[in-house]
Amino acid sequence: MYSSKYHNIDLSKYNFLVTGGAGFIGSNLVEYLLKYGAKEVRVLDDLSTGYKKNIKSFLSDDRFSFIQGDIRDIDICIKVCEGIDFVFHQAALGSVPRSINDPITTNEVNISGFLNMLIASRDSKIKRFIYAASSSTYGDSKGLPKTESKIGKPLSPYAITKYVNELYAEIFSSTYNMETVGLRYFNVFGQKQDPNGAYAAVIPKFIMELINYNSPVINGDGTYSRDFTYIENVVQINMLCLSIMNKESINQIYNVAYGERTTLNELFQILKDNLIRFDDKINHINAKYGPIRDGDIPHSLASIDKAKKLVNYSPSYSIREGLDEAIHWYWDNLRK
Ligand code: NAD
Repeated sequence: MYSSKYHNIDLSKYNFLVTGGAGFIGSNLVEYLLKYGAKEVRVLDDLSTGYKKNIKSFLSDDRFSFIQGDIRDIDICIKVCEGIDFVFHQAALGSVPRSINDPITTNEVNISGFLNMLIASRDSKIKRFIYAASSSTYGDSKGLPKTESKIGKPLSPYAITKYVNELYAEIFSSTYNMETVGLRYFNVFGQKQDPNGAYAAVIPKFIMELINYNSPVINGDGTYSRDFTYIENVVQINMLCLSIMNKESINQIYNVAYGERTTLNELFQILKDNLIRFDDKINHINAKYGPIRDGDIPHSLASIDKAKKLVNYSPSYSIREGLDEAIHWYWDNLRK
């Protein structure tokens, strides 16, 4: 009998490819797969936004291999898919502002690269293609909570690319009989998420600002809200999606979130309250307020009913529990 936390199949029988496996979400998926006995885990990553340090601890494991390469190169995609059973496709250029500054590269990586990976997966006859979609696909739809079938118009080039991914996956399912599952992640956070650079996500950025006694900048008046989702919940649903056998659960799109929303002002306060335990000087730091960013949606909250019903998703970490873990990680690993 194999050991398991979330999956329901024997991982030691299968070979896995994680594209973007040197990135935040990808490296957490790799960690789980290796820990629970995967036969082989291969990572394809060009290290454009990911880091060698995220996969350093796996390099000594014989079951692990790292291929530095670009998903825009179809030959590499075909090569890395050879002998693979399951693909977790995470490689993409994230960030709405990045896509506004450079829509061409975002389009090439997120759409052409995605299509290359679909073709390579189809030709290698992989069993299932599980890919990172995005809550940005909800665009200007007003209703809350967001349910999978009701999307609006995209508000950024990034959102367009993530929506096109879903359309392509659907066509590959119906035309070539491929099994695909799309996971619309909602603001994921946790260990190994990059806090640096112009396109860093809000949670790691704020944590590191506070740790370094700087005032985080909140875009807007702080009332914008997000369904912040801890990485362990994301790992959970990816692994559940490996195991689903039920036909009606496959070739679907699922929201991946906790199902609660937190405003940026609340987030700032939770982070501060939490970090004061480590260093009470943080108590004196106040947030600064800046302009609203183009392409930002005001509120985001997911219905997770579909994932609960069809894949047994049951997120185990609330935002507060996740932040507790994440803060410890940043404090222990990245504090200067
Ligand atoms: P990340 O930047 O940490 O990881 C992405 C990885 O893909 C990086 O390691 C990067 O080097 C790699 N990559 C980028 N372009 C590549 C290319 N051309 N060829 C090969 N590798 C390439 O970001 P993440 O937060 O881990 O995101 C993973 C996936 O989840 C992405 O598809 C992203 O769009 C999606 N997503 C993330 C969130 C979130 O909140 N983090 C939300 C919605 C969707």
